[in-house]
Amino acid sequence: MTINPGRRDFLASMAAAALFPLEEEKPELILHNANIVTVNSREPRAQAVAISRGRILAVGSDQDVLHLGAAGSRKIDLGGKTLLPGFIDAHSHPAMAGVMHLRMVDCDLRSISALQAALRARAAKTPAGEWVLGFKYDDTKTADGRPLNISDLDAAVPDHPVQIEHRGGHTAYCNSLAFQKAGINDKTPDPAGGKIDHDPATGKLSGRVAESAREILDKAIPQTLTRDDHREGVKLISKMLAKTGITSAHEAQGTPTDLLAYQDAHAAGELLYRAYCFINYRYIDSMIAAGVRTGLGDDWVRVGAMKLVCDGSISERTARLSTAYAGRPNDFGILVMTEDELYSYGRKAHLAGWQIGTHANGDVGIDTTLRVYERLQRENPRHDPRFRLEHCTVINDDLVRRIEALGAIPTPFSTYVYYHGEKMKYYGAERLNHMFALRSFLDAGIPATQASDYPPGEFIPMMALQSEVTRADIKGNVWGPKQKITVEEAIRVGTIHGAYASYEENLKGSLEAGKVADLVVLGRDPLKEEPSTLISIPVERTMAGGRWTFEA
Ligand SMILES: [Zn+2]
Repeated sequence: MTINPGRRDFLASMAAAALFPLEEEKPELILHNANIVTVNSREPRAQAVAISRGRILAVGSDQDVLHLGAAGSRKIDLGGKTLLPGFIDAHSHPAMAGVMHLRMVDCDLRSISALQAALRARAAKTPAGEWVLGFKYDDTKTADGRPLNISDLDAAVPDHPVQIEHRGGHTAYCNSLAFQKAGINDKTPDPAGGKIDHDPATGKLSGRVAESAREILDKAIPQTLTRDDHREGVKLISKMLAKTGITSAHEAQGTPTDLLAYQDAHAAGELLYRAYCFINYRYIDSMIAAGVRTGLGDDWVRVGAMKLVCDGSISERTARLSTAYAGRPNDFGILVMTEDELYSYGRKAHLAGWQIGTHANGDVGIDTTLRVYERLQRENPRHDPRFRLEHCTVINDDLVRRIEALGAIPTPFSTYVYYHGEKMKYYGAERLNHMFALRSFLDAGIPATQASDYPPGEFIPMMALQSEVTRADIKGNVWGPKQKITVEEAIRVGTIHGAYASYEENLKGSLEAGKVADLVVLGRDPLKEEPSTLISIPVERTMAGGRWTFEA
């Protein structure tokens, strides 16, 4: 028995590397005759890429790369198709969403009757008395012109308790049996920070509960998810992301359970995207005590930033703004954590070497968060802390200047203008020119990222490109045209900027020798496409770490 096998293995691998330097390595695979957008400014276009052991060996012309092939090298002629680096979704909730897709009814439907049919079908397969749960319901997207109510749910599912979550996650809709199980009746008072809605005419429960009132329902729902369920969730969402060209995602509100699910899915060969797993501030003490900090892990599963939350949501109109919501003169939105709380958690994490990502949507929320970051750097300057502003939706010139000075990274919603157009009117035309402000960020040299916030937003990268380039919604209404960017810029935002946001710009985000082989093959060239049809460009193949994770 050796005393230190780990060290012996290490020395052995060093010897192997010396015997077979990278230059001598032969490619396992060569993709050629492609229109390659490398996102590498030294060599922006190429035709071929050689891949070995999950990494890129060479990128260049067909002539330069094809001759590197050996007897065992596979060659794929892409017939002139466009090849890009894989997309990086820098703010999403895939592990959480995966479990929801596994267990819940997807209520992203366009009428209340369609929703009732989906719930009825699930109830038929569920033992009586057990919960029927749904998610991704959006009151602004059904043709009925009114929100779901308790009678709709009772009519569809009388014998099972039902809870349907709103797409934004802050509200939910329940049937009578669900309220009965949670001990809520017509007379139950609103909890602090929450609301149980009533029909104004009858005073009876309307079915909707908001914010902290949701916790009363949550307590009544048995928590039966196992470690295996969480792994299965990652497996399921992996396939969904791969299909759209995503090869990396930042889990923006991660927990130790998510971190474990990622490790389990990776060990089982089921993880198809690289995960940068944020850790919610509630767990930061135990993580620091265990000696963990941002960056621990490997190329597939890595500990991300600590997550803090400053203010409310854009899609549910609770972000904290300096001027009131359009048509609601006294409504400025809400602050979720105080500046003191943000500072005290932030200080702990900052001193322990963690990156910090704070949810900040409204201009007041962003100002507050920047003040905390500026103070942390003033009191304890750290080299390259890469503070993140999660969402960073409503900005002004002064905020942009401070973001640039601090070297902070905003992760604005990429698909909201296109997908949530019907909600834009609450912000007003003038304010929309300062929202999801990619033009302002890029002009100031700020590396803002692509970010879906799925489930609240859609994660399809081609939708992100179209939304960012056209600023038009599904119906063609344009919102905030001053913030339009070019397709070329949108590709950088969706690739190398996302890599920078997780300190991995030397590992991925562009196609260059030495980086991981994460890429996507498209049916048409986005740089030649009419901007209003970018979303229709088919994804033909996705590769992560040299392995095809999706093939059409
Ligand atoms: Zn989020």
